[in-house]
Amino acid sequence: MRTGADVVVVGAGPAGAATAILFAEQGLDVVVVDRARFPRAKTCGEYLPPEAARVFDRLGVLKAVDAVAAPLRGMKITTPDGRTLVGTYGAVGAFRPYRQHGMAVPRLALDAILVERVRALPVELYEDTRVTDLVLDRDRVVGVEAQGADERPMTVTARLVVAADGRASVVAQRLGLRSGHRLRRMALMTYVTDVPDCTEWGEIFVDPPDYAILNPQADGRVNLSVVVPLADVRAHASRLEQFVAARVKQMPHLARRLAGASRVEPVRAMGPLAYRVGSPKQVGALLVGDAAGFYDPFTGEGMFAAPRGAEVLAETAGGDLRRGDVTLATTAAYEARRAAEFRAKAQVTRALQLVIGRRWLANTVASALSRRPDRLDLLMGVIGDFVPPAALVRSLLFG
Ligand SMILES: Cc1cc2nc3c(=O)[nH]c(=O)nc-3n(C[C@H](O)[C@H](O)[C@H](O)COP(=O)(O)OP(=O)(O)OC[C@H]3O[C@@H](n4cnc5c(N)ncnc54)[C@H](O)[C@@H]3O)c2cc1C
Repeated sequence: MRTGADVVVVGAGPAGAATAILFAEQGLDVVVVDRARFPRAKTCGEYLPPEAARVFDRLGVLKAVDAVAAPLRGMKITTPDGRTLVGTYGAVGAFRPYRQHGMAVPRLALDAILVERVRALPVELYEDTRVTDLVLDRDRVVGVEAQGADERPMTVTARLVVAADGRASVVAQRLGLRSGHRLRRMALMTYVTDVPDCTEWGEIFVDPPDYAILNPQADGRVNLSVVVPLADVRAHASRLEQFVAARVKQMPHLARRLAGASRVEPVRAMGPLAYRVGSPKQVGALLVGDAAGFYDPFTGEGMFAAPRGAEVLAETAGGDLRRGDVTLATTAAYEARRAAEFRAKAQVTRALQLVIGRRWLANTVASALSRRPDRLDLLMGVIGDFVPPAALVRSLLFG
């Protein structure tokens, strides 16, 4: 039993590790619990937008991340009719990225780097320890029940429980906050080698109903993620390698790109990708990162949104914890700030899903963007999280 912590963070992925770092830096008593032992693998496209560097710098890990990352100059987007748009990360008008490149970073290394930073601070970290339930006192969340690898039960009580336990969040489920989404897609991810000239650019192949992303890693492997309708995978669940090979063949531009490539890892599947999570009605619990909801990896912002969400959470709740306690007003303030931070980008992401889901629309939009490189730059800035979506909307409406 561990009683009386200020914060218990469930999950030590990018959201949880960042939350723990930021609260510990405020001098708060922080406990972190993760069911895994780090380094641990994570199914992900492993692309980071330029703005992620700013958050990693703030967390004190940018140098270590740079040592394992491959810089990406931008994205090459190939549409169903074979047109390729080349978008770079550069200054757009008054908007400047933190750095002029994105990154490809192996999750095995990135998540371990963040946990190393947690270890360097006065934080109690329990790995191999799964949170199984919440401790409730009437309508207040006051801690978590957990179980270590030796099956020994453990209780941690704290003034604030932060759910950073990802897409299958026990906290979100226990609070009845999670529901399905009508966008039903699945991602299939593996690594390939021998893709010619695949080093400095992420490559997206849009071919409705599928899309695929190539993301070149520093070790020479290329992360290949293929996103398909969930219903199409069901019958092939036991033969994912063959399914991916067949799907690649059906995407002619991707197939040509991968003609001489070899798959060097088994295929890992994850889905349904999108789900919704509501706001907690109980005092004492806040959600961050994937535990707070997820849509689709097309614009690859989850790994930026997770630590950025942690910044918002620590700024909002940290003051309340230091001055007194968290209340429903803390929850409301956090939810309002989260909405202000992420809502506009989420709308752009949804609009992009409409575009990439329809062959004619994807071709038409790409053709329009190729005639207006300034708008492509703005879109890259929005995807890269350094241009506010309103600037893109202004350009679309007023020229
Ligand atoms: C297929 C796919 C591709 C993606 N590609 C990209 C991309 O290219 N770029 C990008 O930015 N984002 C991408 N994302 C999104 C990104 O992976 C997530 O947004 C990010 O991992 C969220 O971080 P997190 O810390 O919230 O959750 P996670 O990284 O999932 O971490 C959650 C942690 O909680 C722990 N945990 C879970 N349950 C418990 C429990 N009961 N008790 C204790 N610990 C627990 C887990 O062990 C884990 O360490 C992709 C997502 C998918 C599905």
